[in-house]
Amino acid sequence: MLDFKVLTLFPELTESVMNTSMMKRALEAGYIGFEAIDIRDFAENKNRRVDDYTYGGGAGMLMQAGPVFGAYEEAKKRCKGTAPRVVYLTPQGSVFDQKKAEELSKEEDIILLCGHYEGIDERVLEEIVTDNICIGDYVLTGGELPALVLIDAVARLVPGVLGNAGSSHDESFEDDLLEYPQYTRPEVWHDKKVPDVLLSGHHANITKWRREKRLERTKERRPDLYEKYLETLNED
Ligand code: SAM
Repeated sequence: MLDFKVLTLFPELTESVMNTSMMKRALEAGYIGFEAIDIRDFAENKNRRVDDYTYGGGAGMLMQAGPVFGAYEEAKKRCKGTAPRVVYLTPQGSVFDQKKAEELSKEEDIILLCGHYEGIDERVLEEIVTDNICIGDYVLTGGELPALVLIDAVARLVPGVLGNAGSSHDESFEDDLLEYPQYTRPEVWHDKKVPDVLLSGHHANITKWRREKRLERTKERRPDLYEKYLETLNED
């Protein structure tokens, strides 16, 4: 079982998403575990304040090292292993992708650290973080949505989580290609008919058609991925 522990100033935000739909089912079935740890519980003052001004000046506040470290130590105590991966969600990390999701899905425990304001005091990051991960080249107000994106992408790769409701096989990004177009009933909608080959029952032709569509779609929508796909083909 893969356990996620989220260090956050807004536990209710992550809990509400984890208590919905597929993540809720995965938690109830015991395929994954989840808990949010409130960084404010480790504040070093009575009014639970965890941010302060930035040395050197500049607008905005920074999260202090002490409370973040306290929350981390508590999370670590509750982990199964002694050296859990600690992911800081940050615009300054490497961009998250399916390969990273697959790598993380093999872990037993992952601690996710969510920043706010201008971010977190560098000294605690140096001490505890094993992976800096960015979910895309834009800046959000907090790390909770990025943490939830990561959890969703990683959890659905844990065996059992998707069950019969879906499969992670043949999906976008496998072999650096996007998925083929798909259709369901009715056969004709707004004068658009489902491609004949998909109604033919001829499995070899369906596989061939899908492969062609994957190539066509990737070339058109993600030329960067298509280039990668061609490079891998040439290496093999
Ligand atoms: N001052 C920081 C910088 O320029 O790199 C940005 C801080 S951001 C306003 C506050 C928090 O949101 C960050 O500490 C991080 O946890 C989270 N965050 C914002 N954008 C993100 C992204 N693209 N990927 C992952 N986390 C992000």
